[in-house]
Amino acid sequence: MEIKSSIFIFFIILFISFGTANALTITHPETTNETVNEAGIFFSGKIDKYEKVFINGIQMHPAKKGAFSYSFRLKEGENIFAVQKKDFFFYTETLSYKITRISAKQDEFYNKFMEIEPSYYITTRDNVVLRSTPLDEGMNRLGYLPQGTKVYVDGTQNEFSRIYLAKDKFGWAFTKDLEKSKENLYNPVQILDSNQLKNDKEITTVIELSENCPYSAVVEDNKLIVTIYNLDNSSETFSKEFRLDKFPRYSICLQNNILYITQKKNPINKTYSNKDIKIIIDAGHGGTETGAVGCLGDKEKTLNLEVALKLKKILEEHHFNVKLTREFDKFISLNDRIDYAKNEDALIFISIHLNSVPISDDPNLNQGTVVFYFNPQSKELAKCLSKNVSQELHSINGGATQKSFAVIRPTEYIGALVELAYLVNPQDVKIYKNKKFAQSSAEGIYKGLANYIHSEIEK
Ligand SMILES: [Zn+2]
Repeated sequence: MEIKSSIFIFFIILFISFGTANALTITHPETTNETVNEAGIFFSGKIDKYEKVFINGIQMHPAKKGAFSYSFRLKEGENIFAVQKKDFFFYTETLSYKITRISAKQDEFYNKFMEIEPSYYITTRDNVVLRSTPLDEGMNRLGYLPQGTKVYVDGTQNEFSRIYLAKDKFGWAFTKDLEKSKENLYNPVQILDSNQLKNDKEITTVIELSENCPYSAVVEDNKLIVTIYNLDNSSETFSKEFRLDKFPRYSICLQNNILYITQKKNPINKTYSNKDIKIIIDAGHGGTETGAVGCLGDKEKTLNLEVALKLKKILEEHHFNVKLTREFDKFISLNDRIDYAKNEDALIFISIHLNSVPISDDPNLNQGTVVFYFNPQSKELAKCLSKNVSQELHSINGGATQKSFAVIRPTEYIGALVELAYLVNPQDVKIYKNKKFAQSSAEGIYKGLANYIHSEIEK
């Protein structure tokens, strides 16, 4: 063979091996054409050896295993991003992304309180959330109203109606969940009867009302304070306090003019054994719901399950009574997870996740282990988990944070949601790509749990 043609063949082979074997991987955004409300978007992906990647001319600098993330601002309307891969000297592949940012214009009434002629409304469905602020997020839930509950509305703000509770005290509910009452008479609600029911598992306080009415249930200083509003003109509220015991679990339900406050008894006495402690482990997402996707393409649902299975094994070795919401890769709704834990009479519920960031945030600025709780009685568990998990994983301890996630809102169990590490943070890649990640995570959760139970018993 002539030298010239062998050189030619050599270059062809070189071109094929670099040009096709190392395909450029972008894991976020998930599609090349997206429409968003946010003011920014992050790109995550993987860069192979020998290649350089530029997005709109900016070079990406990968961390461990080629993982990178980069956050861009968006202007309103169309934003075009050219993702270019360069092997040695040539741009060998260009991917084009079109990200459309919808204009966020709000009308002049946005966030303004609009007074209306005060009148009676009724709730049009069960479980209408009564809130302390006109927001569909945060720590603002007061109670849950059944269908047909009469409320007194005096104004609106955005999609919420303001409900009069007592002098200078208001609640909020979605306007779509209310309709004007046919009768507009003032009908003071009264307490007709009150008593207690006891069995060996729980104590229920039963308050019989003349009709369903707004109530609030909040925890302050280890006390549950239940307040019933709209009693009558002279004494508008009725309040009752319940002392919270160790491992406090309770439920509050308003139904057919009766308010039930059920406090579960602490199953752990001085001579307890671990089998008295029912723990539900919840591997986040599953099936069609992938969860977050990491820089290298790792799926959150898979890692969550690996950790959950390891944790189950460790807890069983220590003779805890443990159940999983899922042991396979399958979809389970949030309500099914919650109902399962309630039906199992769980003492502790731990949901396992890996973290991502909102698309307009910078993944490079979010790193480490964070544990979320909702109810104040779950804060100590969350703190123990974040401390011990971050120690085992050698990750940054992001601490315990209060946040409104559905699976940790119930008061029937002590619940925490563990975000082990950030899938989209290139620095955290070395943590969740470690061969011992699932085992270390599970050991960290076990240690946090054991420390929490011990400290609560000693309290
Ligand atoms: Zn998740």
